[in-house]
Amino acid sequence: MDNPDLICQNYFSKPGLRQHQRPVVESVLSGKNTIGILATGGGKSLTYQVPYVLSQGITLVVSPLIALIDDQVSGLPSRLKTSTVTLSGGNDSLRQAIQTALETDRRCLVYTGPEKLAHFVKATPLAGMVTRFVLDEAHCASEWGNTFRDAYLELPKVWERLERPQIQAMTATASPGTLSDIKAMFPVEFNVIQSSIYRSNLHLSVVEHQATEHRDNHLLLLIRKRIGPVIIYANSRTYVDRTANWLCEMGLRAEGFHAGMPTEIRSNIQARFIAGKTEILVATIAFGMGIDKSDVRHVFHVEPPSTLEDYQQQVGRAGRDGNLSWCVLFDTMNKRRHRNEALRSAIKSAEQESRDAFSYKLLLRKGEMERFLKTATCRHGYLLTYSGETMAKRKCGHCDNCSGH
Ligand SMILES: [Zn+2]
Repeated sequence: MDNPDLICQNYFSKPGLRQHQRPVVESVLSGKNTIGILATGGGKSLTYQVPYVLSQGITLVVSPLIALIDDQVSGLPSRLKTSTVTLSGGNDSLRQAIQTALETDRRCLVYTGPEKLAHFVKATPLAGMVTRFVLDEAHCASEWGNTFRDAYLELPKVWERLERPQIQAMTATASPGTLSDIKAMFPVEFNVIQSSIYRSNLHLSVVEHQATEHRDNHLLLLIRKRIGPVIIYANSRTYVDRTANWLCEMGLRAEGFHAGMPTEIRSNIQARFIAGKTEILVATIAFGMGIDKSDVRHVFHVEPPSTLEDYQQQVGRAGRDGNLSWCVLFDTMNKRRHRNEALRSAIKSAEQESRDAFSYKLLLRKGEMERFLKTATCRHGYLLTYSGETMAKRKCGHCDNCSGH
């Protein structure tokens, strides 16, 4: 059985590969180093799980978050779980588990975070045994990504030590900066496959108010008129707690979610939201990566996120079922003025130090976010251009600038 569609049916109970998954899987199976850019909710994991079933040896999946790995592993069909190993705990037992999987199934799916991988590979002779090196949420390996960690800098060395296996990098965010950072990490040719990030079922708008009280009134009005689950994004933990409390006082079923909470509490909050028991989740950027909830109807931002990459990822969590969903980003005039003044002077002083520094590049990306807020052109078109795509038509009809609301 070497047909990817048959693997989808027999292993994953899915009718076959979806249109945008197919070229990625075909590129990987043809042995090419592949960068796949699939819109959020596009089924990225299947694009390396299917080739895994069709391969021998170790498929190594580097993932930024343990929570994400746990989700992926628990979602695997049971016949694949026996050959799946998550790198955590002592190296000896992990080596044994990998060895057993290779002897029994001739293959092993290994999930790991970047820090543990570097450690493990130093202590374990895996050279020549790894067939494929998968970078999941590959934007995290880029300084343009939003959760950059030093351990990602070690990945090229680890890859060399493994005798340069085939690379598959998957991401939903594809600004040219991210893409060139990923490419620059490894001295190989990449086949880049990009499915459009255009999400025609999302209505995007930006609303500016004079003061935060006006914004809160407007937000409350929209929440009262909601037609499905709501995610509200805020930038700080304090703001998340305050907003969640305020909504509860207004008689709404809301909960807050941020990285400052203990893991167990966080996963309970997440589970209640996914099950529909909590209607409104107020969260920082910590919420969402790898979360599979298809019926989110509204994504509100009580303040602009720091970068357009963050914005794209966050609005991408609305309407994964393909139904019309609303994304409203609120801004307040006095805050915008302060933000822009601070940004201008920070850019000026950073410019004098180094234009190559991460901090300087981050400031420029913040500037992109500010331009997006002010643009009078189509918002979907703006996002597509930012990601290096072109919009087929000049007006989308479902953003505030095209539709007038
Ligand atoms: Zn538009």
